[in-house]
Amino acid sequence: MRALVKHPDEEGFRLEEMPKPTPGPDEVVVKVHTAGICGTDLHIYRWDDWARSTVPAPMTIGHEFSGHIEELGSNVGGFVVGELVGAEGHVVCGQCRNCLAGRRHLCQEPKGIGVNIPGAFADYVVIPKGNLWRHEEGLSPEIAALFDPFGNAVHTALKFPVLGEDVLITGAGPIGLMAAAVVNHAGARNTVVTDVNPFRLALALEMGATRAVDVRSGDLGAVQAELGMTEGFDVALEVSGSPAAFDDILANTIHGANVAMLGIPAEPFPIDWSTVIFNMLNLKGIYGREMFDTWYKMNVLIQSGIDISPVITHRFPAADYEKAFAALQSAESGKVLLDWTS
Ligand code: NAD
Ligand code: ZN
Repeated sequence: MRALVKHPDEEGFRLEEMPKPTPGPDEVVVKVHTAGICGTDLHIYRWDDWARSTVPAPMTIGHEFSGHIEELGSNVGGFVVGELVGAEGHVVCGQCRNCLAGRRHLCQEPKGIGVNIPGAFADYVVIPKGNLWRHEEGLSPEIAALFDPFGNAVHTALKFPVLGEDVLITGAGPIGLMAAAVVNHAGARNTVVTDVNPFRLALALEMGATRAVDVRSGDLGAVQAELGMTEGFDVALEVSGSPAAFDDILANTIHGANVAMLGIPAEPFPIDWSTVIFNMLNLKGIYGREMFDTWYKMNVLIQSGIDISPVITHRFPAADYEKAFAALQSAESGKVLLDWTS
């Protein structure tokens, strides 16, 4: 089979031939249909300090994917060959306090598919049975391939009640864009998305945002006034990782606002703690997805009519992965997909 492999001490990847895997007793082999490229893959592509210290290269990378079950391990029940599935990308230890209590998303030592263990940018991937998610019949494999980042968006967007609230989303990357669709679908009064990228801000409006604000020229105070808001946003979702975006949240939220923090800053940055304290803000870190409640919610959100397809801007055959990584790094992209069927 083909696999996109990271080798140590070099930029980029190599598309290589390797043996088709066989499942262990508690594993399933999935024939990959569509895979999505994530910012994490770009870190691994560039082989930055984080990637060097995290990824046991040489290793197949990739964690956003959909595919069909090819082969079941001898202990795996409840799944059928040929079904469309995806996988929770965090393989939990099963032994820490949180895992034992059923709070798997809080596992002390999760391993990432395509980050710590071999991934899904390949014709076939091996998945532990406890990580498998069966998709609804009829769901398109492309939308199914978005469930990993869509799950980040749903986890962040629904952490706090948004019905009737004014919501600020900083960052219109794929996750911020999908979060805008979720917040809008969940009944927010206003969904305001910020970014510094006009292409992505245009996509935010397509995803249902009330306003899309380029913070290089736009003024969030003026936008609040235009929308008839007087005290600030009730809920903020930080999905950019930018310190400046966090300052925008501090300056534009109501006292007691709920702030969900998913964006990963490149390095530690100073925070105006006086505002956090005097305004009694409620900050919550968000990582991954809840297993599998977020997956359940994604499913019913799709069934109840949410459309996340505008986030997909590029599709390439797997062999054109270099073009796909170039597209992702251009200023004009949302989610970039790799087709492993061609
Ligand atoms: P992305 O990098 O594609 O999107 C980030 C967006 O933020 C970009 O469009 C960028 O232009 C924008 N931005 C930059 N400066 C800004 C500013 N001052 N104000 C507003 N927006 C600004 O990333 P993504 O794939 O959508 O992911 C979003 C963030 O979440 C990233 O930081 C990523 O590392 C992180 N992430 C976290 C988890 C988790 O589990 N916590 C999972 C996946 C991704
Ligand atoms: Zn654990």
